[in-house]
Amino acid sequence: MCNILKVRWTINPRTAPQPWIACSGCGCLKPFKSSGKIRLNANGKKLDAWLVYRCTDCDKTWNRTLFERQTIRDLNPLVLEAMQGNDREWIRAREFDLDAVRRKAQRIDEFADADVQKEVLDEPESWTMLEIDLVATLPISARLDRLLASEFGISRSRLQALHEGAKLKIHPDRADAIRRRVKDGSRIVVDLSNETDRHFIWKAATSGTEAG
Ligand SMILES: [Zn+2]
Repeated sequence: MCNILKVRWTINPRTAPQPWIACSGCGCLKPFKSSGKIRLNANGKKLDAWLVYRCTDCDKTWNRTLFERQTIRDLNPLVLEAMQGNDREWIRAREFDLDAVRRKAQRIDEFADADVQKEVLDEPESWTMLEIDLVATLPISARLDRLLASEFGISRSRLQALHEGAKLKIHPDRADAIRRRVKDGSRIVVDLSNETDRHFIWKAATSGTEAG
């Protein structure tokens, strides 16, 4: 097909989930923010590891257990190195591990802010369809319709109308996918052949980095 403009959006969430923890400084439940630092404690051949969080109000620390009494020689050396060096990417993956955070806290604040990096994969001269591959290496809290509307610079009702008119399709097409969280590996296909502002949407789909 030579009428499809293909782009890839790589979505990087900005703010990690914040668990609500009983803060001994404040004397009540407060949201805690990751400090981005790992605390390790070696005891003979065993190792404990925590990710250090701080109360957003009083700065009191809370140590989120990553593992306890782990035999050091069974540990992946790369993991050990990442923890010892406070590796940013490794820690980010822990911060966004929503299932693990949920095991420690009943209430979690999530944030939909993200950076969207856009890359044109194929741009035929006279295209009428737009195909977007979504890449998200970390879990994204933003809803798909909000992300698309905000990135295209159109209203959510217009987006909804495109979707209902089968002009905008989502693959894989799960029930209500448009109202769900952005999912890694999704593909969005938009038929813009009847849209007069196609080039306006093209601009938005291929450049710019902000999402709210
Ligand atoms: Zn506090």
